[in-house]
Amino acid sequence: MIIKTKKDQFESYLEDTSNLYGTASSLYIVKNKEELVTLIRDLNKHKTPFTISAGRTGTTGGCVPLGGVIISIEQLKSIIEINKENKTVSLETGLTFKELEEAVSKKNLTLRSSPTESLAFIGGAISTCASGVRGFGYGSIRNYISGIEVVLPTGEQLNIKRKAVSSVKRLFDFEHKGKNFKFKLPSYTAPKFKSQAGYFVHNDMDLIDLFIGSEGTLGVIVGAEINLQDMPLDVFDGLIFFKKETEGLEFVEKIKNLKIKKLLEPTSLEFFDKNSLDMLRSEYSFVPQAECAIYFEQAVEKNDDPAALLDKWAGLSESLNAIADKSILADTPKERERIFEFRHRLPQAINEYLRSFKQLKTAVDCAVPPAAFMEMYNFYKEKAKESGINYVNFGHIGEDHLHFNFLPKADSESITAKKYMETFCRKAVELGGTVSAEHGIGKIKKPYLKIMYTQAQIEEMAHLKKYFDPVCLMGLDNIFGKEILSRV
Ligand SMILES: Cc1cc2nc3c(=O)[nH]c(=O)nc-3n(C[C@H](O)[C@H](O)[C@H](O)COP(=O)(O)OP(=O)(O)OC[C@H]3O[C@@H](n4cnc5c(N)ncnc54)[C@H](O)[C@@H]3O)c2cc1C
Repeated sequence: MIIKTKKDQFESYLEDTSNLYGTASSLYIVKNKEELVTLIRDLNKHKTPFTISAGRTGTTGGCVPLGGVIISIEQLKSIIEINKENKTVSLETGLTFKELEEAVSKKNLTLRSSPTESLAFIGGAISTCASGVRGFGYGSIRNYISGIEVVLPTGEQLNIKRKAVSSVKRLFDFEHKGKNFKFKLPSYTAPKFKSQAGYFVHNDMDLIDLFIGSEGTLGVIVGAEINLQDMPLDVFDGLIFFKKETEGLEFVEKIKNLKIKKLLEPTSLEFFDKNSLDMLRSEYSFVPQAECAIYFEQAVEKNDDPAALLDKWAGLSESLNAIADKSILADTPKERERIFEFRHRLPQAINEYLRSFKQLKTAVDCAVPPAAFMEMYNFYKEKAKESGINYVNFGHIGEDHLHFNFLPKADSESITAKKYMETFCRKAVELGGTVSAEHGIGKIKKPYLKIMYTQAQIEEMAHLKKYFDPVCLMGLDNIFGKEILSRV
């Protein structure tokens, strides 16, 4: 185990992409599960809080410690088995998505669901139930996890296989390695659509789903078994620019309807508003003056006719007056990389901008039911104008889920922006949506969880956490404040 006790040796572990900056007395980089178990038992003995650190690409401060020590899983990197026949991979969770894809692609397999950022760890993504740029086609990582190995905050271990243990009427009662586990679930029901706000709870649910998305509060996920799929035969991407925003939004509606009817099944459908394009234009000279753009990815599978698919995309874009000579069709790996990089660059550019003004991320990642999307979209625009603060709005429009980001230049603007963020979250919940669709609550979005759930329901979450972490040491201040833990 590597131990670092001087702050300047582990400064980069005190932050993530939310720009929240934390504090810790030391960093432990464990080499294997056994070291982790011994360390956690020791921390329990001394009542020392600990925060799990993975790729630190999170946007809500989840891996940022507010005291105690940091445990990094970066050396848990083994791939235990890639099973070509069953299309599964068993691995340690310190592996990045980039490393995973490099390894499984040699067997013509892929996990196409990922959190866009390829430096995120598998463990981080399972803990935040990440989805990402291909969420439209593949959903979140939850859909692909068939087993996990967890070290609980007490040092005990759980091996959980999907479909092995379920709750009955919100009660889990099972035996594992000679110990009986019996606990009640909170009384709320998590949304059925894309949502990553608080623990995932349903009436009769699979135990594995409780740990997926638990944001480093219920246990350290050290191993996972993941279902993969065959590589698509081919993939092409497009970046389509629209002079008029209304036409871009109509284009999206058309694609969504075709997908419902299974007439066109893109794996990605992403939106850039005018401000997003203005922000990126200085770096990407191919960006024309346009009111919005749509990025899509289309996989070509065995029974698909690539020419017919291309025709459909071209026909639809022409019918809505896309800027044909500036739009890009990427059908070579190099071109695809170029426009994927463009898509990925935007959240990075936002983080750099905020960092330059020493501001925390002030963004919402609300999703709403499809019928409410336009109302939410117009609400963002109206309130953003009223605020007078710069902003960009972009993201997973196929799933009615945008990342609205304020770009405050000073603390005074940031304070105002935070008030508007709360207004946005209230509106999303009023429309039947969620306050976080994929980034999680972490530390910086705790105020918004209160909009979605009652105080009593949040206390039920805290009760559940205390069942697994009776001394209250792991991932403190994630999802709910530690003061709630001392109260329940
Ligand atoms: C440019 C950019 C684009 C992004 N786009 C998307 C996107 O499209 N979709 C999306 O969902 N996210 C996106 N993200 C956010 C981020 O990549 C995801 O939240 C990712 O899943 C975090 O993984 P990580 O390894 O960096 O975790 P970290 O940030 O290190 O940790 C996240 C949380 O998980 C906990 N944790 C980490 N590992 C474990 C473990 N093994 N066991 C228990 N708890 C653990 C931590 O304590 C923390 O609470 C983006 C980020 C960036 C920078």
